[in-house]
Amino acid sequence: MSHFSNPATQATILIVDDHVDNLKLLSDMLDEQGYETRQSLNGLTALKSIELSPPDLILLDIKMPDIDGYTVCERLKSTSLTKDIPVIFISASHEELDKVKAFSVGGLDYITKPFQWFEVLARIENQLRIKQLQQELKEKNTRLEHLVKELEEKSRLDPLTQIGNRLHFNDCFEQEWKRGMREQEPLGLILCDIDHFKLYNDAYGHLKGDRCLCAVAKGLEKAVLRGTDLVCRYGGEEFAVILPNTDYSGAEPICQRIVETINQLKIPHSASSVSSHVTISLGFASLIPSVNLPSDSLISMSDKALYQAKSTGKNCFFLYNSEFVLA
Ligand code: GH3
Ligand code: MG
Ligand code: MG
Repeated sequence: MSHFSNPATQATILIVDDHVDNLKLLSDMLDEQGYETRQSLNGLTALKSIELSPPDLILLDIKMPDIDGYTVCERLKSTSLTKDIPVIFISASHEELDKVKAFSVGGLDYITKPFQWFEVLARIENQLRIKQLQQELKEKNTRLEHLVKELEEKSRLDPLTQIGNRLHFNDCFEQEWKRGMREQEPLGLILCDIDHFKLYNDAYGHLKGDRCLCAVAKGLEKAVLRGTDLVCRYGGEEFAVILPNTDYSGAEPICQRIVETINQLKIPHSASSVSSHVTISLGFASLIPSVNLPSDSLISMSDKALYQAKSTGKNCFFLYNSEFVLA
């Protein structure tokens, strides 16, 4: 038995050599070590056999009658299916082996005749171990990539309402701002704020308050119809709706629908001075993004419109009007 701890006793090794004696010698020795061995007598049959069923490692003779080992190796390295199979060159003597070429065509190591058995085994085990580690690393990387993606998605989701959170809003808003600038299309934004929500919590408790927030988030999503519209939780009881390609005339029916939808939820709110159930106020603004404007100018316009809706009695929407600036 080998003195080396064998990491892959079940590994399949293909031996390619035009000398039957060499093939037999190597395969007997490797079989004895617990490896699965296959044999090819020339380069072309080796390539066919590898393509049919890729082995874990290849021992490749250099001088062969049809195509030499360097060429076989080059071909293997140029195909995605076979490029990762470790190749160890076998050479008859030191003189025959062009070491630089052996490595430059993609060989990972070489062994020379006469074989020193322990050395041959050590080199094989070494390459198999490296391959196994590379494989493990690749799998770990894939798992890590999935995990990062999952975490990234989670970090953008509001855990309570299951809609996008402020982080998601910020990113999408910046993206839509840039798109609007490129395409010279209007970008619309609604800021929404539940009316008398502090009183709702006081009257019904925070747990019901949370449920109310979820119901309102669902209602908002139901009220916006276009696939490109995006509802996010902007803050505590505030929501934002990004409406790409939407100007004031386009926004009016959407705002109307949102106010009605929330009314239609008929969530009782006995403490509200506006209605017997939960209501919402909205402010809308729209502009064609430009390099001369900071993107938060649109947010501040919508906010001003929302303030107007609040101070005009709530349960309604206001479209931004430049006169607000003077107010
Ligand atoms: P207005 O009509 O002027 O908007 O008054 P309001 O009471 O809705 O506004 P205010 O800003 O005074 O209160 C907002 C409340 O929203 C206070 C806060 O406790 C509550 N709130 C914020 N986030 C959450 C949450 O995640 N869950 C619950 N239950 N309440 C929340
Ligand atoms: Mg608020
Ligand atoms: Mg409020």
